[in-house]
Amino acid sequence: MQVSAAGLRPMEMSFLGNTLDRQATRRGDPAYLAALLNKDGTEIVLSSDKTLVFRASDSLVASHSLEDALALGADQREMVFLGLRPGTGRAVFATTLPQDDETLEQRDDLRLVDLRTLAVQKLLPPQDLGALAQARALIHWHRTHGYCSRCGHKTDLAEAGYRRDCPSCGGQHFPRTDPCVIMLITHDDKALLGRPARLPEGMFTTLAGFMEPGETVEQAVRREVMEESGISVGRVSLLSNQPWPFPANLMIGCRGEATSFEIAIEDDELEACKWCDRAEVRQMAAGTHPEGHLIPPSISIAYDLISGWLEGRT
Ligand SMILES: [Zn+2]
Repeated sequence: MQVSAAGLRPMEMSFLGNTLDRQATRRGDPAYLAALLNKDGTEIVLSSDKTLVFRASDSLVASHSLEDALALGADQREMVFLGLRPGTGRAVFATTLPQDDETLEQRDDLRLVDLRTLAVQKLLPPQDLGALAQARALIHWHRTHGYCSRCGHKTDLAEAGYRRDCPSCGGQHFPRTDPCVIMLITHDDKALLGRPARLPEGMFTTLAGFMEPGETVEQAVRREVMEESGISVGRVSLLSNQPWPFPANLMIGCRGEATSFEIAIEDDELEACKWCDRAEVRQMAAGTHPEGHLIPPSISIAYDLISGWLEGRT
């Protein structure tokens, strides 16, 4: 693996490489979509409630034929059109299977893999990981929006999977993307890193949180940092962004300058929070920290924000 002059792994943020041509203007054309779906070579990505469903014989191709998908219990009316592969023009659809993970795991011909593991293993090309992120986010939305939020009636897939319609009240429902701010906060030459309890032991990361309605990105950064660490933040800059399909987030990467230094953990988001100088963060990145503290893997925007600061890129 290549290592930069600062001893860091190369930038490898996952889920940025989706190259599918989404053909958004053709989503209302049922004849076109039906022809694509029934064409030889069309790929169907199958997903259960938590994982992607691969063929056991070929763990690097997350796709199945229409025939195989229907044989496994997929519903032809619930096919989401992801797009056309550039070059080949091959169509890629995604859908859910009705079985739960435990039932599917008992089959010898299938293998269940979660998308986070696939990203960390780096076995798939970036364009496939990006397309699978699109698939997972959409499938999660369809699985949780089978009923109308206005009247409770069952909804139908519409617009190739980018809308669900209610036949009872006429309500139209659209897939969600949930924006989150994720920010590296600095004070002089130190960075603020926190430890949510859900992370693997010893891992510290940048603070993050969901944006709230009616907020700017800058306001969300200042509010989240104050809530989680008691630190006040002045200037905020937007640096980068990343689709994060767990289940359907858009991570908005920021840098913020702290205007206070005393940490006060008042809510239960973090179990620890500390200011780290560059030497300590380098030890955390290299796996040589005396207390075993770590930073997140290079697939994440958190790693990109932290390594950018260490290398002086941002
Ligand atoms: Zn309704």
